[in-house]
Amino acid sequence: MTERIVIVGAGHAAGEMCVALRHDGFAGPITLIGDEPHLPYQRPPLSKAYLKGEMELERLLVRPAEFYDDNNIELRLGVRAVAIDRTGSEVKLADGSSVPYDKLALLTGTRARELPVPGADLAGVHYVRTIRDIDGFLASFEYGDRLAVVGGGYIGLEIAASASKYGLRATVIERMPRLLARVATEQTAAKIHKLHADRGADILLDAALERMTGDGRVQSLELADGKPIETDVVIVGIGVVPNQELAAEAGLETGNGIIVDEYCRTSDPNIFAAGDVAEHPNKVFGRVRLESVQNAVQQAKVCALNMLGKQVPYVAVPWFWSDQFEVRMQSAGLPQNFDQIVERPGKNDYSGSNWLFRNGQLIAVEALSEPKSYMLGKRWLEQGKTPEPERLANPDEDLKKLV
Ligand code: NAP
Repeated sequence: MTERIVIVGAGHAAGEMCVALRHDGFAGPITLIGDEPHLPYQRPPLSKAYLKGEMELERLLVRPAEFYDDNNIELRLGVRAVAIDRTGSEVKLADGSSVPYDKLALLTGTRARELPVPGADLAGVHYVRTIRDIDGFLASFEYGDRLAVVGGGYIGLEIAASASKYGLRATVIERMPRLLARVATEQTAAKIHKLHADRGADILLDAALERMTGDGRVQSLELADGKPIETDVVIVGIGVVPNQELAAEAGLETGNGIIVDEYCRTSDPNIFAAGDVAEHPNKVFGRVRLESVQNAVQQAKVCALNMLGKQVPYVAVPWFWSDQFEVRMQSAGLPQNFDQIVERPGKNDYSGSNWLFRNGQLIAVEALSEPKSYMLGKRWLEQGKTPEPERLANPDEDLKKLV
């Protein structure tokens, strides 16, 4: 009997999984369930090209509508999955219907963490996760308005850079002593800080936001030191929360996400998980949950193979990129538990690379507007090769000849 595959969560990972399942020869029924009304789309452009009006909605889609028609993929969009009945092998939806499965993929992703301060529900306060979020933000300001950005991570900084196209003047409020605290080294973050400051952003570090005030619509933000920040519009980018409740309520093992093994299997042999929501093993960094498009795409493909009965471990090197103003930030590996950092200067204040080592082994590279350093570093990480730190530190040494 042909198995029925059901995918819950219709984000980027889900689009890639549909492609992979058909590509890998699965001809049986596939049902895709998602609570947004859209076909699977790419999120990275939301805070960049889509926000700047340089990319249309159609181009965000992982595959056009015809792909799902042509490949006989049943779409249940705009409806939430509310429970998994593991005994009856079916997914229950918010509209009262149920979808039976033989194999189930949980690609439920993450949601924006909500700001826990009074006034955060005022009009003019926006999050950035979905097309709807960006459309709402775009409709809410005028040229030259003041923008307050809460959170100095990727979202906050990309929005601050992109919104400058509309003349928005940004104040970035970060509660840590530096920007990009979770995702980049101090050295890289310092260059990004200078980039934004030089472009006119006001960056407040160690800044604890106490409340937002306004008459129906946000007008002012108050910090713990009592300092008010007058504003017209607010973007909140303070991280994300994994959508793991569906799995947890069904009795699957969860931790910092849905726990899976190297084959993307949850604690139920018929249920798999991948993408932002999956806490999985990584041979260099231990158990991780990665928030990146690389992980969504590559893990979904490996997960598809394993759902079809293959035994393919997920072993990818994590990589990330971000565009802010004219600078492209690229990294491979994670900036975690390193004991040595080698800096190679770049051509200007906003370029260069940082190389991270643990016990003499290269574990990550961060490059600013240096695609060659990034590509070489990523390749070395994939091959388990390590350049000599002393030679790497010498800018006269040709990188290509180091390994
Ligand atoms: P993020 O990278 O976790 O950054 C959020 C920052 O906000 C953290 O530094 C956090 O500090 C800080 N923060 C938390 N609570 C705060 C508060 N109450 N007041 C002020 N600051 C606060 O997350 P994000 O920038 O929101 O991004 C959301 C997701 O989108 C992530 O999954 C990210 O990877 C993804 N994304 C990726 C890219 C890219 O790869 N280019 C671009 C955009 C978005 P703590 O560490 O102390 O919590």
